Amino acid sequence: MENEVFLQEHKYYRRLIESVTDYVVAVNRNYQIIMANELFKNEFGMQPNDFCYRVWKDRKEKCKDCLVAKTYRDGWGHWNVENVTMKNGRVAKMLIKAIPVKNEQGEVVYVLERATDITERQHIQENIDKIVGNLEDMLANRLEELQKSEEKYRTIFERSRDAIILTNPTGGIVEVNQAGVHILGYETQKEVLALQSVSRLFETQEYFRFQEKVTREGFVKELETRLFGKNDRTFDALITSNVMVDVTGRITGYVLIIRDITARKISQRQIEKRNIRLNILNAISKSVSSSLNLDEILNSAIDKILEVLESDSVRIYLLDKKRKVLKLVAHKGISAKLINEPFMQYRDPGDGLLGQTILDGETRLVDNFLRSQDPYVDSIIEEGLHSTAYIPLSTKGVLMGVMCVGSHYPVEFASGYIEFLTAIGSQIGVAVDNANLYENIKRAYEDLKDAQEQIVQSEKLASLGKLAATIAHEINNPLAAVLTYIRLMIKLKDRNQFSCERLDDITRYLATMESETARCGEIVKNLLAFSRQSKITIKRHRVADIIDRTLSLIAHDLEMKEIHLKKIIEPDLPDVHCDFQQIQQALLNLMYNASDAMVQRGTLTVTARRKPGAEKFLEVMVSDTGRGITDEDKEKIFDPFFTTKEEGKNVGLGLSVVYGIITRHNGTIELESEAGKGSTFTVGLPCG
Ligand code: ADP
Repeated sequence: MENEVFLQEHKYYRRLIESVTDYVVAVNRNYQIIMANELFKNEFGMQPNDFCYRVWKDRKEKCKDCLVAKTYRDGWGHWNVENVTMKNGRVAKMLIKAIPVKNEQGEVVYVLERATDITERQHIQENIDKIVGNLEDMLANRLEELQKSEEKYRTIFERSRDAIILTNPTGGIVEVNQAGVHILGYETQKEVLALQSVSRLFETQEYFRFQEKVTREGFVKELETRLFGKNDRTFDALITSNVMVDVTGRITGYVLIIRDITARKISQRQIEKRNIRLNILNAISKSVSSSLNLDEILNSAIDKILEVLESDSVRIYLLDKKRKVLKLVAHKGISAKLINEPFMQYRDPGDGLLGQTILDGETRLVDNFLRSQDPYVDSIIEEGLHSTAYIPLSTKGVLMGVMCVGSHYPVEFASGYIEFLTAIGSQIGVAVDNANLYENIKRAYEDLKDAQEQIVQSEKLASLGKLAATIAHEINNPLAAVLTYIRLMIKLKDRNQFSCERLDDITRYLATMESETARCGEIVKNLLAFSRQSKITIKRHRVADIIDRTLSLIAHDLEMKEIHLKKIIEPDLPDVHCDFQQIQQALLNLMYNASDAMVQRGTLTVTARRKPGAEKFLEVMVSDTGRGITDEDKEKIFDPFFTTKEEGKNVGLGLSVVYGIITRHNGTIELESEAGKGSTFTVGLPCG
C-alpha cells in the first residue's frame, strides 16, 4: 500500500517533471540518478544508476557543496547557481534547486534536482542592472545639475540689476527680486506682492497688448512701454517675458524681466537732438563751402535754423564798414510792417541790444521781452515776439555782424541751444568772409582782364606801327598807278586825243584805276578791322583764310628782307572755332618774330594740318630758319616784357599776347628751336 502510494506519487512526479521546461532528475542517497526527464536525457544522455555528479558535472566524485547531500541531511530544500557545460559546449548558468521527496514517515526517499537555464535571464538581468545603474547615475547627476542651476537662477534672480517678477498663470505676483522692488520705487518685496496683479504696473491698453503677445507667442522680447511705479510714478521700460510650463506642458506662470530705460531714453533723445543739430551745422557748412553767393548762403542758413530750432524769425545784419552801421541783409518771419521800419533796416553800433552785440561781441539772450530794456521793445512785443537770441557773427576774431533768432513764446535757452547758435554764427561768419573774398577776387580778375585787353590792344597798335611801312607801300603802288593813268588821261585830253580810237585804251586805264582803287579800299578796310577793339567772338573760320589774310599784312616786310615764303596747307581741313581777328593777331606776332629772327634771306614756312593723333585739333606751324632760341631763353619766352630786342623798339609782349589768345581759345602752343638753326612755333586750335 505504502509502495502503491509511493508509486502513484512517483507517477505523479514523473508527469510533473516531464511537463516542465527545466532539467529534472531524481537522485538517491548514493547520488545515483534514479529518474530523469526527457529534456535532461536529451541533453546529458545519462545511463541508469549513473552518479549525478558524473552526468551533471563530468566529475569522478561527488561535489563539495553537494545540494543533494544537504537536502538529505536537513530534510528541506537547497538551491544554488552553477555553471553547467551543455552538449554543444555552451556553458549555461543554471539555477539548481534540490527538493526532498518524503514518504509518509517524513523520511527523504529521494531528492529531485531541478535545473533552470537562467543564462538569458541572467544576461537580461545584468543589462537591466546596468541600465538601472546608469539611470541612477543620471538621476543623481540631473539632481545635482538641477540643484546647481536652481542655485544659479537664484543668484541671477537676487543679483540681477533688472527687475524680475514671477507670476502665477493669472498674472498674480508670486515673487519679485530686490532690483524689482527698487525699480518700482518700493521699500520691500511685501509692498510689491501686495499689488497682487502684475497688470497694476501697466496702462490698461498696454497690458492687453503685452498679454495678447505673450499668450500668442509664448514670450515677449524687449517690449518698450511705460510702467507705473509707486505713487503712479511712470518710467520707460523694456519688458522681456516668458511663459513657464511644467513637465506636462501646463502653464505654471510667467516670468517678467523689466529694465528701466528712462536714463537711456533721455540720453537717446539728447543724442537725437544733437545729431539733428550736427546735421544742420553740416548742411550749413556745406552750403557755405559750396556757394559763394552770399544771399543764397544766408537764406539757406535761415531756413535751416527755422526748421530745427522751432523759432519763428531770423534776421541777419552785417556791418557796413564804410558807413559804420549794421545793415539788414537777410530775414524771415517778420511782418513787412515791422521789417520796413528804419531801426529794423539799419542800426548804429551801441543802439539797443542789437547794436550793443556788435560792440562787445557777446551773445545776448532775451527770454522775455516784457522784462527787456531794449528801446524798440514795444514794436517787438506788438509783433508778438517774446524772446530773441542775439548772436555775434565773426571770423578770425573780427566781428562782422549779428544774427537775431526770435520766438513768439518765452524760450528757456539751454546751453546746447546757445552753443548751436554760436556754431551757426561762426559758420555764417566764414561764409560772409568767403563771399567777400570771392567778390574781391572777382573784381581783381575783372581788372586783370581789362589790363590784359589793354595789353592786347597796345600790342595791336605796335603791330599797326610795323604795318605802316606795308600800308604805305601797298597803298602807294596802286595810288601811283592810278595817278599815272589820271595824268595820262589828262595828257590825252590836253592833246585833244580823247577820241573814239583811244576808247579801248581809256577803258583799260579806267579798269586798272578801278581795281587799284578798290585794292586800296580793301587794305584800309582790313586795317580798320584789325585795329578795332572788339570782344572775342568765336565762329567757324577757314584756317587758310586767316593765314592768307595775315600773310598779306606781312608780305611787304618779307619781300624787303628777301625772305622766301613757303605755304603748306593740307587740303579739306575742317573749320577752326575761333575769333578771326585774334588768331590773325597771334599768327602775325609769330610771323613778325620769325621775320625778325632772320636778318636777311631765309625761309618762313607756314603749315596748316590736322594734328596727328587728335581728331578735334588743327595745327598751324610758323617756322623760320633764323637764329633760334637758347634753352635758357625758352624758359622765359612767354613771360610778359621779356625781350632780347633793341630797347624802345620792342616791349616783349608779343608772345605773352599770343599765349593769352591761344589759351582763351582752349588751344595749345609749343616751341621747338635750336640755336643757330631756326624755330618752329606750333599752335593747336580746336576744330570740327
Ligand atoms: P618782342 O618781339 O617784343 O621781343 P616777344 O614776346 O614777341 O616780344 O618775343 C620775346 C622774345 O622771344 C624776343 O625778344 C626774342 O628774343 C624771342 N623770340 C621770339 N620769337 C622768336 C623766333 N622766332 N626766333 C628767335 N627768337 C624769338
